[in-house]
Amino acid sequence: MNYETILQEIYQEAKQLPSIGNVAKTIPELSKINPNKFGIHLTTISGEDFGIGDSNEKFSIQSVSKALTVALAFSFLDEKVWERVGVEPSGSAFNSLVQLEYEKGIPRNPFINAGALVIADMLVTNLENPKNDFLKFIRKISNCDTINYNLNVANSEKETGFRNAALCNFLKSFGNIKNDVETVLDFYFHQCSLEMTCKELAHSFFFFANEGNTISGEKILLKSQVKRLNALMQTCGFYDESGEFTYKVGLPGKSGIGGGIAALFPKNFVVATWSPRLNEKGNSELGMSALELLTTKTGMSVF
Ligand code: GLN
Repeated sequence: MNYETILQEIYQEAKQLPSIGNVAKTIPELSKINPNKFGIHLTTISGEDFGIGDSNEKFSIQSVSKALTVALAFSFLDEKVWERVGVEPSGSAFNSLVQLEYEKGIPRNPFINAGALVIADMLVTNLENPKNDFLKFIRKISNCDTINYNLNVANSEKETGFRNAALCNFLKSFGNIKNDVETVLDFYFHQCSLEMTCKELAHSFFFFANEGNTISGEKILLKSQVKRLNALMQTCGFYDESGEFTYKVGLPGKSGIGGGIAALFPKNFVVATWSPRLNEKGNSELGMSALELLTTKTGMSVF
């Protein structure tokens, strides 16, 4: 497979597509991003790297981080994670409150905000220095010491994150948040503010494609655990557009409102795209189109 040529083709073809969507408006700091940024990076299972466009520029990974927090929680709590968070698609928006009431504070899955807040609570309970330890975990799995939180983005979200505050308080009223609401929100806003390039993001997701082994060869999850998390990304990674992503792209993946997407083909490759224009569901429109072109051109999809 000549990935270099394929990425060039995808990049050129995707750039001709009409510009659909706008940068995220809910976090003021993110609304300043140039909407026309576009990068793709693909890392093969043998560790070869292919990048194009703005693939070496850092961006806010936002909800893509939810796949990494649940991986860390799963690594030490194993199946206990699912006592407090479900494994079903929600069919609602990422920041929706409606299901929580009638499902008594058990979020549908770890990728909607409610689920990610419960996972954040688990990490706050189990890590000695939650924000530092999580950052160390990220630097370890990506084999990159320069990855950091963007404090301007974290603070910007803190100032405007009323909906997440509502979700966290609501969860607490059901007893599904064990720590202070403020501490959990602070952790969550920091995890969302992580900045990575497409290359760093592809590297940090490498273990999902490599049976639980990171790009530097460290085992962080069992093969069967990674299988489960990939299944969750496949069914829930794009909120109420997970079916559409599965239909068009056919890979497990996770999106974020910074415009990033990380996706993978188990035992073959990991790919990250970045284009800040979001569609109505809060997913990167151009990123999804680029990934659709990738699996169409290569025929490499899980289906
Ligand atoms: N930090 C964002 C929020 O909680 C993340 C949402 C997303 O990327 N979908 O609203």
